Amino acid sequence: MNPVAASRFAVDEKSDLSATEITDAVAAIARRELAPLASAIDSGSVYPAELLRRFGDAGAWGSHRPNNGAADLGGAIRSMAAIGEVCGATAFMAWCQNTLAWYAFNSPNPALASFADDVAAGRVLGGTGLSNPMKSFFGIEKLKLRGRKVEGGYVVRGALPWVSNLGRDHFFGTIFEVEDRPGAIVMFLADCSDPGITLQPCKPFLAMDGTGTYGVQFRDVFVPDVLILADPAGPFVKKIRAGFILLQAGMAIGLIRDCIAIMKEVDGSLGHVNRFLPQQPTDFQEALSSLEAQTMELARDPYNTDDDYWRTVVELRLKAGDASVAAAHAAMLHCGARGYLMSHRAQRRLREAYFVAIVTPATKQLRKMLADI
Ligand SMILES: Cc1cc2nc3c(=O)[nH]c(=O)nc-3n(C[C@H](O)[C@H](O)[C@H](O)COP(=O)(O)OP(=O)(O)OC[C@H]3O[C@@H](n4cnc5c(N)ncnc54)[C@H](O)[C@@H]3O)c2cc1C
Repeated sequence: MNPVAASRFAVDEKSDLSATEITDAVAAIARRELAPLASAIDSGSVYPAELLRRFGDAGAWGSHRPNNGAADLGGAIRSMAAIGEVCGATAFMAWCQNTLAWYAFNSPNPALASFADDVAAGRVLGGTGLSNPMKSFFGIEKLKLRGRKVEGGYVVRGALPWVSNLGRDHFFGTIFEVEDRPGAIVMFLADCSDPGITLQPCKPFLAMDGTGTYGVQFRDVFVPDVLILADPAGPFVKKIRAGFILLQAGMAIGLIRDCIAIMKEVDGSLGHVNRFLPQQPTDFQEALSSLEAQTMELARDPYNTDDDYWRTVVELRLKAGDASVAAAHAAMLHCGARGYLMSHRAQRRLREAYFVAIVTPATKQLRKMLADI
């Protein structure tokens, strides 16, 4: 770890706030400070680092910290939903940050305790490069990073095509395959300030453009033992995988809530004809309530090792992507021409919704996973 990074890993101030108080504070910041930035984030002219730190200050990135071997992700998901009601791109960055915290909280490496505190408080920002590993575990593609054991750590090379919520002073968790040990994998924290790491700006995206997303190249990067999240990574991945997926529900819940709000907003002027559309806000409200209830139940038990639990988590994630796209599609049909204006958020919601369905695990991967189970 470089000295600059080490000096940032200060001691955490323990928060006494309840999950509800945190969600309320996060929702207030989202309405007041995020709403005016949402379209600039969407178009990619703003990456909201300061706002992510403010959310961290309010406790948004720490409520899912495990306690005595148990964890409840409900508060983190509710906070992300409050952010997602305003801006889907920022809800995705919130997921990146919460997932980084989830890795650090669960790491058996004692050297990462203060790092976990800093991520939870928003003093350190970052994300996760687990799309490629997650796809590799289910036979979809090969691991893109390789590591060679050396004294005091590993030397890593390779490239990941997209990692979000990054900047020069950020970190992210990812996985490499160990050279000369077929099948052996190690999960580690990449320090973006390392001179061997290059952040390559991506071509403009359809949405999610202000999310600090880069292609990341590793050119013989020395990863010291203090940055190892888990070696071997296999059992660790099994431990964190349900949390990784469940936290994504926050993006879907926030987006669907706003799509319902959009449909209701036009009801006064267009209700007389919109009532002929097959899907109405009440239908989505019912689906949303059931999605929320099931998410909160599963979120109370993220370390459950039952096969049935895992299958239910995968099914819920699939439902969340499908429901996001359906709600955004319906919001467009209810809005008509006004939703087609670039200045209206209905079209932004549609573009954001597709991301919920394509971010790893994408719809097609989830369907493959269920078929394999
Ligand atoms: C805006 C954005 C942000 C993302 N942020 C993250 C992140 O933070 N962390 C993370 O791990 N993943 C991230 N991803 C990746 C994402 O999670 C999915 O993996 C990705 O959307 C593709 O998933 P898929 O299963 O549909 O795979 P597919 O798109 O079907 O296949 C992916 C494979 O195709 C290759 N490929 C796809 N497009 C291109 C291209 N233009 N040029 C060359 N090769 C290509 C890739 O190398 C990869 O091996 C991000 C993607 C986007 C669009």
